[in-house]
Amino acid sequence: MSGMPSPVLLLLRSPAARDGAPSGYDQVDPAAPVANALDLGITRGDGIFETITVIGGIPQALDAHLARLERSAAMLDLPAPDLPAWRSTVFAAVDAHTDVPEAFVKLLYSRGIEGSDAPTGWVWMQQSGDFTRERSEGIDVVLLDRGYPSTVAETSPWLLQGAKTLSYAINRAALREAKRRGADDVIFVSSDGVLLEGPTANVILKLGDRLVTPKPDLGILPGTTQHSVFDIAKLNGYATAYETLTPADLRRADAAWLVSSVRNAAPIRSVDGAPRALDAQLTASINSGLAARTT
Ligand code: PLP
Repeated sequence: MSGMPSPVLLLLRSPAARDGAPSGYDQVDPAAPVANALDLGITRGDGIFETITVIGGIPQALDAHLARLERSAAMLDLPAPDLPAWRSTVFAAVDAHTDVPEAFVKLLYSRGIEGSDAPTGWVWMQQSGDFTRERSEGIDVVLLDRGYPSTVAETSPWLLQGAKTLSYAINRAALREAKRRGADDVIFVSSDGVLLEGPTANVILKLGDRLVTPKPDLGILPGTTQHSVFDIAKLNGYATAYETLTPADLRRADAAWLVSSVRNAAPIRSVDGAPRALDAQLTASINSGLAARTT
């Protein structure tokens, strides 16, 4: 991290909404060992998170990220987060961080120290890496079987598909499998052959003059970036839709992207080693539209 401004770490005093509890945060040394060894977020991955891009000091799609934090908390039966406290802590992190062109803020909300019945929450901010190459040259992806049917969210809600949980070991294992296969990223496919999402991103296809993404009820994360891309696409005269898509749709698409906070829109230049077309102009206008968001 040499040459990078120091990250910022803020601990929320009262991360859950509770009557009369004082809100606020404490800024601590980002290198300080602040987590308890028995925090369930650490020992069980039992918690949730959000990662928000900050461009020119503006947290992007903040309302959508806070709404998703609340949704993930409900899916895990966590106490409802105190959203005004989280919001003001995000802005406090931005104020405390050195100005940089692109940074990210991570919101972490865990069930807390085992037996304490008090959730823990903290906000971390640091400068983002450089994704110029991925945004312009594109990324190579592989398709991996997620092993669940596309009905999993409905049939087995306890699998928490579609919640942004701290249990990301599987997502990281999938990314290592992509690297082993010489690729950069992954798109998961359900056991019944439906296109889902990446381990940290949503898929968008350009099919003629439409931008199409998998339906959010497939046990995938409703993406804040995907939502913004659809807004940008509509302004550029494209129709948008949520549909059931398959790997064949990905192969026949005129262009395809993995979209996520921080990396923004990364065009997909190959799938399982087979090259596919990019739309450089549309990619550039999507990424400049994302960077120009004011909320
Ligand atoms: N899907 C998964 C599984 C993710 O982890 C993420 C983000 O990390 C996304 C999709 C993209 O969401 P967003 O655009 O809100 O960052």
